[in-house]
Amino acid sequence: MSWIVAESLNRLHQQLNGLAPNRSKVSDGSIGDPRHAGQASDHNPRWIAGDNVVSARDWTHDPAGGLDCAQLRDALIRAKDSRVKYIIYSRSIISGAGGPRPWVRRPYQGPNPHDKHLHLSVVGDQRCRDGGPWMLPGLTSPITPTKYPTLQRGSTGEAVKLIQRFLGVVGPGAPGYGHYGPLTETAVKKYQIMRGLPSDGVCGPRVWAETGL
Ligand SMILES: [Zn+2]
Repeated sequence: MSWIVAESLNRLHQQLNGLAPNRSKVSDGSIGDPRHAGQASDHNPRWIAGDNVVSARDWTHDPAGGLDCAQLRDALIRAKDSRVKYIIYSRSIISGAGGPRPWVRRPYQGPNPHDKHLHLSVVGDQRCRDGGPWMLPGLTSPITPTKYPTLQRGSTGEAVKLIQRFLGVVGPGAPGYGHYGPLTETAVKKYQIMRGLPSDGVCGPRVWAETGL
């Protein structure tokens, strides 16, 4: 039987890998192992909107590697994304909007304390198939010193051209290439939102760190 992982989870997975490219994946997981097969688990595929869909994913807690699952949990709570069914991390469970006491941490009594990974279940309907970006407010990636200057409205030069090319906003030969104008500012804001950064439209160290340039 063929199955897929919910697009929403794949998108978050991609974002987390972007934030922490060298993170440990030792406790990562998507489809249920044989232990899960006999019991109800969102790690087992089920029929959602036309496919057999796995609607849960686990991410390894690896603060040294750039992914602190306590921060991830808090970012998910702050963002209140309607795709969340529930989050489990470190003996706490947090339901999404459709569950009991939405977005409040409650004790989790299951046999696995979930202190080595964060479990996220997404809702079992069409919404989990939405692969749009996740807001992750406050989830920081380690900021590596950048060789690029902070750029904002009015900045000019080679670094501006670089971020314009990276964001696909203005290319060589086009008017505004090398000048940080409204288009560039808007593109930077969108990128910041996508990566869960404060969206002030300024291309500073955190934005440069996210780009990996
Ligand atoms: Zn899990």
